[in-house]
Amino acid sequence: MIPRMSDSTQNNADLLARSLAAVWHPCSQMKHYENYPLVPIARGQGVWLYDFDGRRYLDTVSSWWVNLFGHCNPRINAAITDQLGKLEHVMLAGFTHEPVVQLSERLRELAPAGLGHCFYGSDGASATEIALKMSAHYWRNSGKPQKTQFISLQHSYHGETLGALSVTDVALFRDAYGALITQQATVPSPDWRAAGIGESAEDFALRCAAQLEAHLQRHHEHLAAFIVEPLVQGAAGMAMYHPSYLRRARELCSQYDVHLIADEIAVGMGRTGTLFACEQAGIAPDFLLLSKGITGGYLPLSLAMTTDDIYHAFYADETARGFLHSHSYTGNPLACRAALATLDIFAEDDVLNANRGKASHFNRIAAPLRDHPAVRNFRNTGMIWAFEVESRHADFARRCFALGLQNELLLRPIGNTVYFMPPYAIGEDEMSMLADRTLNIVEQLQ
Ligand SMILES: *Cc1c(COP(=O)(O)O)cnc(C)c1O
Repeated sequence: MIPRMSDSTQNNADLLARSLAAVWHPCSQMKHYENYPLVPIARGQGVWLYDFDGRRYLDTVSSWWVNLFGHCNPRINAAITDQLGKLEHVMLAGFTHEPVVQLSERLRELAPAGLGHCFYGSDGASATEIALKMSAHYWRNSGKPQKTQFISLQHSYHGETLGALSVTDVALFRDAYGALITQQATVPSPDWRAAGIGESAEDFALRCAAQLEAHLQRHHEHLAAFIVEPLVQGAAGMAMYHPSYLRRARELCSQYDVHLIADEIAVGMGRTGTLFACEQAGIAPDFLLLSKGITGGYLPLSLAMTTDDIYHAFYADETARGFLHSHSYTGNPLACRAALATLDIFAEDDVLNANRGKASHFNRIAAPLRDHPAVRNFRNTGMIWAFEVESRHADFARRCFALGLQNELLLRPIGNTVYFMPPYAIGEDEMSMLADRTLNIVEQLQ
């Protein structure tokens, strides 16, 4: 008999066994689940996830950086429910609908000036694919078909489909597929942890920008675009850098006729303290990519915003000059309504301002963690915190994850880097719990 899903009959062990038998989980060596079991989740509320036995976990990583205003947020739920009664989906080629138009108009108002055209995908990686293809196709339409190459930062992450993987510099994700991709060049990351002794984050950023300049000088004739994660390189272990790098990169890309693609899939939607990270450098990229938090963490939606100049290079009588890319669920109305509700919450609750208060509060109460002798490079940008832990354990990340769960925390370190990227809905009690219990875990694992 097939067990039926209901809270009364469901239990943790039962669901784990069925999941391991039928579901191939992402980003996982499945055998590791023998020793570090999956965590079954029955429901979510605010910053908390609950299992079937009533245990709870503080979602300190916002369910892979997507959740902004808590699980089961009443306002986002209401918007999706309302949309469900009107139109769940319609194809966007040849058709349009109110939510996608409104969302595009509102994002155009909010984004750095000049990004007036939104092209939609579903996952973040598809937004990267869209920008790479659109950039190279732009140059082809503009009589420069030799501009087909890309550059990214060392340790960059832009997604894991084959095109996105070609500009992703994480060996663990890339090496097995080396034969399938055209590996693109990388330039040094301005991550301030690599700065020289006595060198400021800004000086180091400018030194890295000079290396970018040298690369552009030599290769610009074949370069379509430079893709970058503004201010924080997430998958690199929350590597943070000075905004002057982006200012200089913008100047250099304009000077050398190379597009600048700002991948704000993780850092957009207020994560770095401003709605878009690029604002802190006062720049407008040629492409701005969004996904993850855009729907408040509810539904898959991604988009690439771009300029009139790029849009008009495709606008012609000839079909083949157009951008013929598509995904089945492009601009899905339910996802767009979740995104509109998310933007409403930003405006109605003055979220960016409230987050500044939350961040300074957390920085105060996390002082004992920052000052702990096993903690290195404690850093913060907006609603992202990270630090390295000096540990005697080679499998620190998995031990930390397991100890976190015992302490009601969902912690998911990247190597020895522990990071917090909580939903903005986190309250002061929850922040205290997070700081205190993480300190305790660091003491056990140092
Ligand atoms: C997560 C992420 C992506 C890929 O998004 P998916 O939805 O996982 O495909 C791309 N770029 C950055 C910076 C990301 O953090």
